[in-house]
Amino acid sequence: ESEWTAIDEEFGHPDDQDGEPPQPVLAVVGRPNVGKSTLVNRILGRREAVVQDKPGVTRDRVAYDALWNGRRFTVVDTGGWDPKADGLQASVTAQAELAMQTADAVLLVVDASVGATSTDEAAARVLRRSSKPVLLAANKVDDDRLMADVASLWSLGLGEPYPVSALHGRSSGDLLDAVLHALPATPRESFGVERGPRRVALVGKPNVGKSSLLNRLVGAERAVVDAVAGTTVDPVDSLVSLDDELWQFVDTAGLRKRVKTASGMEYYASLRTRAAIEAAEVAIVLLDASEPISEQDLRVLTMVVDAGRACVLALNKWDLVDEDRRHQLTRELERGLVRVPWAERVNVSALTGRSVRKLAPALRTALTSWDQRVSTGQLNSWLTGLIAATPPPVRGGKQPKVLFATQAQTRPPTLVLFTSGFLEAGYRRFLERRFREEFGFVGTPVRLSVRVRE
Ligand code: GDP
Ligand code: GDP
Repeated sequence: ESEWTAIDEEFGHPDDQDGEPPQPVLAVVGRPNVGKSTLVNRILGRREAVVQDKPGVTRDRVAYDALWNGRRFTVVDTGGWDPKADGLQASVTAQAELAMQTADAVLLVVDASVGATSTDEAAARVLRRSSKPVLLAANKVDDDRLMADVASLWSLGLGEPYPVSALHGRSSGDLLDAVLHALPATPRESFGVERGPRRVALVGKPNVGKSSLLNRLVGAERAVVDAVAGTTVDPVDSLVSLDDELWQFVDTAGLRKRVKTASGMEYYASLRTRAAIEAAEVAIVLLDASEPISEQDLRVLTMVVDAGRACVLALNKWDLVDEDRRHQLTRELERGLVRVPWAERVNVSALTGRSVRKLAPALRTALTSWDQRVSTGQLNSWLTGLIAATPPPVRGGKQPKVLFATQAQTRPPTLVLFTSGFLEAGYRRFLERRFREEFGFVGTPVRLSVRVRE
């Protein structure tokens, strides 16, 4: 088991996330033509068509999202892996090996109308060594006459064979119940449960204009709501209506009272900033456009990115920015904001009110991306094409292979790539960048975790 290591992007720690648990993976293994794709389709409820008429054709998609009894998991059809092994038996056992190493549970599919072949036996031999749960599906049991043949599959040493007819749907419910039981705790599908105002942190170094901006936002809408019927808001928070939507600005009590942070209180201020970011879903990071970008600014940005929060950059005091300063600033931003090239920038002036109304749309865009989940099918369809066009660089004479990927989490979006080979940091950044472009992720950190067999 330990031969697999998780290599995370420099600021990605998906395993430490306190959000929803990642979606577990079921790998479906077996000889060609036993009905793997048909069974995968059955599991998916035919939401995504995958069956290919010609046997042996490499499928362009291999992984999909499944939902059974309100539980989500990823199904991987290893028929699309094409491990380039010599001969059918080697190919199927190689798939079984990879499945064991990548998935949380493995389903071996056998054609009950044919019985166990030597290839099935070889695959079963590999899978019997697995520390992960393995289930056995006896497929093509279209009627009861085949039940005796099903019993003979006990000989594979994988426990009870589950008779199914992928084509007709017979007994696939029992199999799926067993699959769910074998998989680690899977996230419950939740349909827009929590609601209420989105939580915003207004952060930045002292004197950048936080109090002024908050007052401006409140003043512009003339609607600070301290207590709204039916909502419970922490007394240190402010409810502000922007662009016809109510937002909860967290931990703004100090700002509204214009409490000045005395020198020597910087440590306290930074703790407070951190707490506000943790409590929020999205942060407006305020920068003073009239001054050089400082270490302190970058520390605040790092806090936001490390906390995995969505982010909008507001360049304040724009009224003080002249032509010269603008040129300087462009260079400073290029150098300083390398970690957040994806963050939307809004040039504002808390003093004059300039462009302040552009903040709400930017917050909305960032939160939409923060919440967004790309389906496993869509993701792999895109990824297969991208990797075919731009394969990962060869390392130590070996071509790393990306087997499949899932977006395991949202808030922030977190991709998990399952590979048989090491992906260089540059290539991981390339994948992240293209992922952002393809699916329109703006204003949110995206984490990339690679599960690689060394
Ligand atoms: P794969 O190569 O293992 O993915 O197999 P496919 O899903 O492509 O199926 C191979 C063939 O078996 C297709 O012609 C399917 O229609 C057929 N098939 C799949 N499941 C069943 C089944 O339960 N009963 C019968 N009679 N045929 C099936
Ligand atoms: P905070 O410490 O981040 O809350 O910053 P304040 O809101 O107290 O602002 C610090 C100083 O910057 C005050 O003197 C403000 O009047 C000034 N200030 C804030 N926003 C602007 C702006 O957009 N333009 C200009 N010229 N001054 C601003």
